Amino acid sequence: MTILDEILKKIPKDAMITNTSYESANIVLYTKNKVFLLQGGDIIKRLVEDFKKRIDLRADPSIRVDAEKAKDIVNEIIPKEAEITQILIESARGVITIEAKKPGLAIGKDGDNLRKIKEQTLWVPFVRRESMIPSKITTNIRNVLYSDSEARRKFLDEVGKRIYEVRKSSGDDMWARISMLGGARQVGRSCSLLQTPESNVLIDCGVNVAAIGKYSFPYLSAPEFHIGDLDAVIITHSHLDHTGFLPYLFKMGYQGPVYCTEPTRDIMALLMLDYLQVSHGEHNKSVYSSADIKETIKHTITLEYGEVTDITPDVRVTLYNAGHILGSSLVHLHLGEGWHNLLITGDLKVKQTELLNPAHATFPRVETLIIESTYGAQDDVMEPRENCEKQLMEIVKETIKKKGKILIPVLGVGRAQEVVVILEKLFRGEKLDIPIYIDGMVWDVTAIHNAYPRFLNSDIREKIFYEDKDPFLAPIFKQVGSGKERAEVISGGPCVILATSGMLTGGPSISYLKELADSPKNNMVFVCYQAEGSLGNKIQKGEKEVDIDGDKVKIKLGVHTIAGLSGHADKNELVNYLQKIKPRPRKVIVVHGENSKCLSLASSLHKSFKIETVAPRNLDVLRLR
Ligand code: ZN
Repeated sequence: MTILDEILKKIPKDAMITNTSYESANIVLYTKNKVFLLQGGDIIKRLVEDFKKRIDLRADPSIRVDAEKAKDIVNEIIPKEAEITQILIESARGVITIEAKKPGLAIGKDGDNLRKIKEQTLWVPFVRRESMIPSKITTNIRNVLYSDSEARRKFLDEVGKRIYEVRKSSGDDMWARISMLGGARQVGRSCSLLQTPESNVLIDCGVNVAAIGKYSFPYLSAPEFHIGDLDAVIITHSHLDHTGFLPYLFKMGYQGPVYCTEPTRDIMALLMLDYLQVSHGEHNKSVYSSADIKETIKHTITLEYGEVTDITPDVRVTLYNAGHILGSSLVHLHLGEGWHNLLITGDLKVKQTELLNPAHATFPRVETLIIESTYGAQDDVMEPRENCEKQLMEIVKETIKKKGKILIPVLGVGRAQEVVVILEKLFRGEKLDIPIYIDGMVWDVTAIHNAYPRFLNSDIREKIFYEDKDPFLAPIFKQVGSGKERAEVISGGPCVILATSGMLTGGPSISYLKELADSPKNNMVFVCYQAEGSLGNKIQKGEKEVDIDGDKVKIKLGVHTIAGLSGHADKNELVNYLQKIKPRPRKVIVVHGENSKCLSLASSLHKSFKIETVAPRNLDVLRLR
């Protein structure tokens, strides 16, 4: 008997259940009985407790009011001040999503407005916060997700059927192993395959942006990987070295779920589209198309931090804050009813930053830990944040005095928003009022940050809820969108310019550099990692004449590096994390670092904690127990 049959047996006959379906691990019951829909809450609550599954009760289509009428009722009940931007109707699921700039006002006191909407329409309403910063990309993602309600319902039902399949193996037959398909002893193309008797789960599927050709992609040709057997993909965070190859799976026919947080889904869509554009421009051919990116988005299932969910008959996943960038997650995997527990850090930050809380460190159980080691070597110790901020302020003041401009090349996601918040704070404190221009994708990503305050730390969340304190909305920030506006910035007065790309490998940061390089009045500040061979790296090392698009450019502007603003844990933080983590794992697998960094961290963790550590190479397979 399936779990659905068992649940149905416990529901009163007069509840008039007309249909049932899965929505991934959740169970949905449709009823024709209006009274049961509105008052059957206690019965459902008891079932949830008994079965430890989420159960939703929704109205059969025949008793719901017409969709257009429902929209009118929503507009009548929710006050104008809530600033509704969109009402999205999913007929196949009986769900209305209301997007509003003031979600608190939309929901009403104690959820009053939502209750009224449900009573009067018999649809189930949800409220989502719309970013205070307009961005086309987020609207487009919503439209892709909600465009085909019936297809989405079918997909979620298929996923649920797979999750609730009866296990073929008993507890004694349990085994688990993990294959490194990329990102071992390297930074880039992160991808690992978890296998059990019942499941094949991929964790991350990235590209190596710095490499060329086949070395850019994970080893999907490894003998243990069969795309037809893949049950689920879990994404730790949106950076391309963890997500860039994901659409390729869909191109190859994968139709299953991708689990991640909501901000990860939105930001990865943006980064993938950008990657497609760039790779198209460079080699004139791409490994996948925008249609494959669309498929990826359609197949994502988002999870909140701390939400426990089954993803196959013997794998249960929970995501926790990783502190690295917005929406970044530690992935906790509970295998075979507690037979083994695996924690994968993805990229991680152990200290609090301007934007995010430190990485989560308490878990019900952890036996094996897979940890990143980007800055895992003995001498990878970063400058304290306060010193970095002071240094940045000194450069700004000195430049203003000389009537120059400051260029800060940034990665679109993470560092850019961190620098935005720091500059806002410093400028307010010092009462400086020169403009800060934001160019490139940074603006869209900042808009996504504004849409998900619950993923930010409490300081910044508080500020976002009061518009006049929201650092992202501060009037000193000006968006630069066109070449004409760029020219005006260059011919104008003293200012700070944040522009992508962070390593001066393309994008608007290069256009600015070309114009600003000639004058010692100007300054450039590096705040992110400059990979060997990049233009940023050459200038950082002190080259005084560089080649930009075939032109010789003399570097006369001041060049500074502020290294302590990284979104990665440094060596001390990584060791500290092992100190903090509860319970302490028995085995640590070190990945996501250059060869020497992986080896160095594995060795220092072994010495400090007397636990088994290993630094596998790509294509190595490790058994978990
Ligand atoms: Zn990252």
